[in-house]
Amino acid sequence: MFLLHEYASHHDTFTQPLQPKPFHAPHLLALNTSLVKNFNLDPEWLKSEPGLQMLSHGQRQDGDPPVAMAYAGHQFGHFVPSLGDGRAMLVGELKDTNGVLYDLHLKGSGPTPFSRHGDGLAALGPVLREYIISEAMHALGIPTTRSLAAITTGEKVYREAPMPGAVLARISLSHIRVGTFQYFAAQKDLTSLKKLMQYTLHRLYPEHSDTQNPALTLLDNVIARQAKLIAQWMHVGFIHGVMNTDNTSIAGETLDFGPCAFLDEYNPDKTFSFIDKNGRYAYDQQPNIALWNLQRLAEALLPLIDPDTNTAITLATKSLENFNTLFSQTYLSGWKRKLGLSSHNPSDPKLISALLTLMYQNEADFTLTFRRLSTLAHTDRTQGFVSLFKTPDHIQSWLSDWRQRCAEDELSESHRYDVMLKSNPRIIPRNHKIEEMISSALKGDYHPFNVMRDKLSSPFSEEPEDELEAPPTYEETVQNTFCG
Ligand code: AMP
Ligand code: MG
Ligand code: MG
Repeated sequence: MFLLHEYASHHDTFTQPLQPKPFHAPHLLALNTSLVKNFNLDPEWLKSEPGLQMLSHGQRQDGDPPVAMAYAGHQFGHFVPSLGDGRAMLVGELKDTNGVLYDLHLKGSGPTPFSRHGDGLAALGPVLREYIISEAMHALGIPTTRSLAAITTGEKVYREAPMPGAVLARISLSHIRVGTFQYFAAQKDLTSLKKLMQYTLHRLYPEHSDTQNPALTLLDNVIARQAKLIAQWMHVGFIHGVMNTDNTSIAGETLDFGPCAFLDEYNPDKTFSFIDKNGRYAYDQQPNIALWNLQRLAEALLPLIDPDTNTAITLATKSLENFNTLFSQTYLSGWKRKLGLSSHNPSDPKLISALLTLMYQNEADFTLTFRRLSTLAHTDRTQGFVSLFKTPDHIQSWLSDWRQRCAEDELSESHRYDVMLKSNPRIIPRNHKIEEMISSALKGDYHPFNVMRDKLSSPFSEEPEDELEAPPTYEETVQNTFCG
């Protein structure tokens, strides 16, 4: 298979070449056939011996080495000057049928010079988890890295207990992170920093590459994409879980699915990650944290924005001030679509927050609330919706406010129903369903994985609610999600 070797050959400080060891018995568990088509790849070749070697330990047909990408990062607010791909590798780049360049990246492919004390490996559970959630995000219309394939290695990895080892082959617009810029900025390696900035702008934002101040233009574009991305996460109740700067994509994609999860009952303070003791990455903290991460990107870019630090700070600060406006625009317009509203009304933010407050007080399921509200765009049978709330009075009164607001709106009833169905998924990757799927897979039963993969590929379709159900009792609610 033809792969470019662009990032690796661009500048020698960007990456470390690897000589990865083949795995004992790589076996293809899942291949993403629609993604395979997007890249005009030959599925039969990917299933063959050389295909599996490429997908499991990065063996390229041209013999060029796969590489580990260098990056730093703020982890839970603390700067670590050298992280890098410790259990991942960039195999190379490939073009989709539209000519857009993407990375082929493996996770769990073995140790690298950045592995520190880690084994460089991934266990089957987290690989299946990332496969399912990243593809679900894509189907929800949210920018994300995608899963091309999942492979078992035939070897064990040791976590709390021995687990089957696996590799995820993923595709991304780029794996350059905020932390990649921080890496060179911290080393005061301005040559690499500048080359990285120019490369990134040219690759990810080519329509903006002819500009007076390329570093500032890059910052502006990343701010815009991150603002939109985080708003989209909020609209589906997604919690990334580890929004460290090394997990913040310069391409504005959802990157590095660790202890991420979707909300069941609505709770803005919710975290799932057991390491996030202080709620730094809680659901409603995500916009603030994204801005904090972008401030770190701005700091790294300062010497390229202007040789005079004060001028650079003034320019970067102005750019960062746009984040809140950009975020609020996408945030509000997304909530309005979820409520089936189109025209402008200054009281809309109040209507939205009143619903969210009631959802919180009544522990209403996030996904079900909006999906069932959608049906009320063309029926008066409110029972299913109201039953999601512990006490009906307040929500009945909110419903009549909503109906009144709808009556004033420019959307027709059928158009409203259509907009709401397309904005409110009937199915998301439920935490308890993912846990069930993983425990079946560990017993050798991949049927639940395949069912989930299939169902989550059309989250907005008009089907009955079966799989949709929120966890029936608190005990069955997953409280923590794990990575590694
Ligand atoms: P993550 O938590 O996946 O965002 O990773 C943070 C850093 O730890 C990155 O530099 C990873 O490459 C590294 N890392 C995580 N798990 C492992 C592992 N099992 N072996 C080696 N490095 C790892
Ligand atoms: Mg990471
Ligand atoms: Mg991390």
